[in-house]
Amino acid sequence: MKGYVTIDESLCKGCSLCTGVCPKNVLRVSTERFTARGYRPVELVDPTGVCTGCVLCATICPEAAITVYRARAAA
Ligand code: SF4
Ligand code: SF4
Repeated sequence: MKGYVTIDESLCKGCSLCTGVCPKNVLRVSTERFTARGYRPVELVDPTGVCTGCVLCATICPEAAITVYRARAAA
């Protein structure tokens, strides 16, 4: 695993901008859940750990809902 993201669902509006820019296609809008504000939240679905931590999703998010974590390079 090179990276992963967390989504603050209290901020996410389900706009799908992040899902469109992810080069690994590991973000998806939930089909089952709603946020407290009534939006469908984005989820990270990355069972094989292909997220690179590229930060494209966090950069495009207008709500600053995404935090990206990157694995530290081996010393
Ligand atoms: S950091 Fe990059 S690869 Fe990972 S979820 Fe965001 S856009 Fe996709
Ligand atoms: S870009 Fe931000 S607000 Fe829009 S769906 Fe993604 S996490 Fe939610």
